Amino acid sequence: MITRFAPSLTGYLHLGHVLHMLYVWGMAQKLGAKVLCRIEDHDLSRARPEYESAIFETMDWLGFVPDLGIRAADEKPSEFRQSDCPEYYESVLQSLEKRGLVYGCECSRKQIAASQPKGTEELCYSGTCSEKGLPLEGNTVRFRTLEGETIFHDLKLGEQRQAPRNQCGDFSLRDRNGQWTYQFACVCDDIRHSVDLVIRGEDILFSTARQIQLFQTLEAPVPQYYHHPLIHDATGKKLSKRQRSVSITSMREAGLAASEVIGQSLLQAGFSDIA
Ligand SMILES: [Zn+2]
Repeated sequence: MITRFAPSLTGYLHLGHVLHMLYVWGMAQKLGAKVLCRIEDHDLSRARPEYESAIFETMDWLGFVPDLGIRAADEKPSEFRQSDCPEYYESVLQSLEKRGLVYGCECSRKQIAASQPKGTEELCYSGTCSEKGLPLEGNTVRFRTLEGETIFHDLKLGEQRQAPRNQCGDFSLRDRNGQWTYQFACVCDDIRHSVDLVIRGEDILFSTARQIQLFQTLEAPVPQYYHHPLIHDATGKKLSKRQRSVSITSMREAGLAASEVIGQSLLQAGFSDIA
């Protein structure tokens, strides 16, 4: 069994990541899985390579050592770093295109938003361009979502039912500027890295069926999923990795020991009986 830790290069690791790593390495130990590390920098407009060395330093310092994948910031190029292998995602996309399962969409976000009922939480694309035959190049590439509900069993939360077509509609695999989306790059990587246990935060539970539909369409085995609780700040918001103030790097600079940082993450996650 293989699970993965897949940080993105959009900020420093914070206490939320420490909690996530405790779940990843902890569940791996419990279930006899190996931990694979990959760097998620599929969106070159947002990823900043300078975060990579800070992430590996923090993992080393806390003692989270991956069994597989990328282990140091100077490993280049690597199939475990998304920005190193655009041809791979391109080849998967071409296979979907040949089967008529994707299409080009020229709608802007603003146009889609204008067609939504008031108070909609997530934009749902109605498929306006699905039969226009637009080129993929220069347009948003959308995946033809499957009809009906996708049902899966979460290892922590039990049975889940989601209908991507009603939630978000045909979702995008690549934006009009050629940037791969998280859902697509992540599923492509889980397939080629043989990941069969995916441990994620509860905040993205709502979108899991999109990934499952991609696995099914690409005729790959669907991994098992485990969604864990998150750490929130005093205002109830998810911790942000753009704030250096809450980063592990700055806690370390302030003199905290690795064990104290791990303790803090558990306390903030509500494991109050260790206080
Ligand atoms: Zn469109």
